[in-house]
Formats: sequence, structure tokens, C-alpha cells
Amino acid sequence: MKHYRAWAEIDLDALTHNLAVIRRRAGSGVGVMLVVKADAYGHGAVAVAHHAVRCGIDSLGVGTSAEALELREAGVRAPILVLGTLVDEEAASTLRHRIEIGIHSSDRVTMLERLARNLGVRARVHLNIDTGMGRLGVLPESALRLFGEIHAARHLELVGVMTHISAARGALDDATHEQVRRFQAVLDQARDRGLLRGRVHLANSASLFTGLAPLHELVRPGISAYGILPGGLPGAAELQPVMSLTTQVVFLKDVPAGTTVGYDSTWSAPRATRLATLPVGYNDGVAWRLGNRGVVLVRGQRAPIVGRVSMDYTTVDVGHVRGVEVGDTVTLFGRAGGEQLALEEVAREAATIPYELTCSVGKRVKRVYVGGEALPLPSQPAPPTRAVPQPDEPRPHRTEVAG
Ligand SMILES: *Cc1c(COP(=O)(O)O)cnc(C)c1O
Repeated sequence: MKHYRAWAEIDLDALTHNLAVIRRRAGSGVGVMLVVKADAYGHGAVAVAHHAVRCGIDSLGVGTSAEALELREAGVRAPILVLGTLVDEEAASTLRHRIEIGIHSSDRVTMLERLARNLGVRARVHLNIDTGMGRLGVLPESALRLFGEIHAARHLELVGVMTHISAARGALDDATHEQVRRFQAVLDQARDRGLLRGRVHLANSASLFTGLAPLHELVRPGISAYGILPGGLPGAAELQPVMSLTTQVVFLKDVPAGTTVGYDSTWSAPRATRLATLPVGYNDGVAWRLGNRGVVLVRGQRAPIVGRVSMDYTTVDVGHVRGVEVGDTVTLFGRAGGEQLALEEVAREAATIPYELTCSVGKRVKRVYVGGEALPLPSQPAPPTRAVPQPDEPRPHRTEVAG
């Protein structure tokens, strides 16, 4: 792998495993919409979507119409929902490619109805109800009116009704149950009036893994598919990290005590030591906050990041690690052979959330996909926890996708 300055290894077998865990949690009869917004949280939406579809997931959730169109252009034919909203200019191409749209206002109903009529298509829409997130979505008291308007719009087809849970602790938080109660009240009213159509969905990863019930017809996990659960929720141990962020040592330097490192000289060597320069910085996804706080893995050992992280480079103190050479692989998070530097731990040091770290892995970092051959068919039971590969066994199969 030494031909890259930095690469994010994406373990498709771990993704397969996590999707099987998710499917088991969701239970039979509940569909899975994999959320692949923000380039699949930095993992590469096209490759992740293709693989997830092969694993039997039902549909995909994206953040913008451009993300949806990227998947369509790459040949993904599964249903795709723009979870948030569109700006008006995006609507026509979105409808032409049979991309589903969240709807949250009367204006939107009118605009989409007119556009769909002109294009000669039926727009597939999900009514988004705001039960406490306070972001997008129509308030419960206006929801029935919107149900009615969608029903009356001949070129709109209601294929889903959704809300979004705000609590990071999912069903462990009382606020979630209040949201569920409000949502249920709207669903009941719509059902009574014969206006309820399509699939009902609300659960993100946190809700799914904390046993929220009912899950209705569809769940919308994102982060858990990538092997991470927010806030150390139960079930984290069942998941496997998908991304490992890796680079290599490009320069080694023996320095005397008192040598300072980086902008503003925030670190100086307490003793003579050896410094390794890594060709990655905050543009590549090494959080600036990790300066003088974070660690990396090199030769199976932890080495502290010293001085500030800069845009293109990071310096680590490897004085205690034997035999470090230029070209050695260095792990910034994820797996390294038998060792692991957990993304959650790195996020804590960087005073952020794991979501932000994987999303921040920059364009210069090559995504390298490994594994992905062994696929359980949707009708098969989930695979057992994966076997640890033998050290001298060749890696199964390696596909590289530009990115
Ligand atoms: C991002 C998102 C999700 C997925 O959330 P995770 O916490 O990553 O599981 C689900 N639904 C909506 C509307 C989202 O925006």
C-alpha cells in the first residue's frame, strides 16, 4: 500500500457484518434504508451503496439530490430518498431519475405537483413530520392538512411517512418517547381519515440499538453500518469498524532536547528523541484539535502527536518505538494488524463526534476497498462473527476505487 501518502482502507466484510447485525436488530418484515449521505460518511457512497445493495438492503438515504444523482449515474437502481430537502433548481432532475423526496410544506406539494405533471411522472414523496428535532418537517398540528394535500395531488404518490429522533441516546432518553407519542398521534389521525400510505419510518442507529419500538416498516441506520455507535450505546461491541485511516512515515529526525515542533512552537522535546513526519494534516482528516493530544499507531505502539497538526503534515514522537523506518505504515484510527485505535477514542481527544472524523477524511486520501466477496444472501441467517485471518494468508480480494 506504500504507493499512497495516505489511504482510508474500507473493509467491506465489516460492512457486510454490520448490515447483518442491523438486519437482525430490525427484525423480520422491517426494511433497511442505509444512509449514505456525505459520501457515505466519508467511506465512498458509490462503492458502499453497490455493496449494500448486494447485501440485500432495500433502499438508500442521501443528503442532497447531487448525491442521489451520483448514485444513479453509477448504476444504482435501488430506491433513493433525499432525506432532507431540495432547493428548487434540483427538483426536475431529481424527479426524472425517480428519486424520492422528503416533503414538509404546502409550497413543496404545489411545486412538485406542477413539476411532476409537466414532466409526465409521479413524484414519490415521504411526508416528514417534525416531532422534536426542530429542523425540517411539518409540525404535527399541520400534518393532517399536508396529508390531505398530498392525497389530492394526482402526480404525487405518498410512499413514506417519517420523523427524526433528536436524542443521541435514542430510546434511553425520555424525549424520544415523547417524540414517538406525537408521531403516533399523527399517524392515528391520518389512518382514521384514510390518508396513511407508504412506509412509516423513524429509527436512526441510536434508536435501533436502544430497542425503540415500534420500528414500523423501515429503519434508517447510518453510523452503525460503518461500525460505530454514538455515545457508547449498548451493542457497540457487536459492530466492526469499517474505515481505517492510514499513512506512512516520510521523514525521521533525531533531535536534541529543547527542539520545538510546529506552528507557535507549542511543544518542545523534553529530552533527545526521534521525530517522525507524517504527510497528513487537517485537510486529510487529522483533526487540528489532536495537536499535543492525539496518538497514532506505529509498529504496534502508540506514539503521541506533538505540536500543532498543520494542513499537510503531522509530527509524532517515536523516540520510544524501536526500529521505525521511513515508509512504515502509521494508523490514525481504525485497525492496524492486531491493534486498534478506536475512532471513538480519537473523537474524544479531538472533542468531536466520530461522525465528524470520518466525514472529514479529505479528497486527497485514497479510498481502498478490501474484502467484499463473501456475501450472505438476504434470505440466509446473519454470518457468525468473522474469523481472524491467519497472518500469512493472502488478503482475499482487493478492489480500488478512485476517490
Ligand atoms: C443522518 C440521518 C440518519 C442516520 O443517522 P445515524 O445516526 O447515522 O444512524 C437517519 N435519518 C435521517 C433523517 C438522517 O439525516
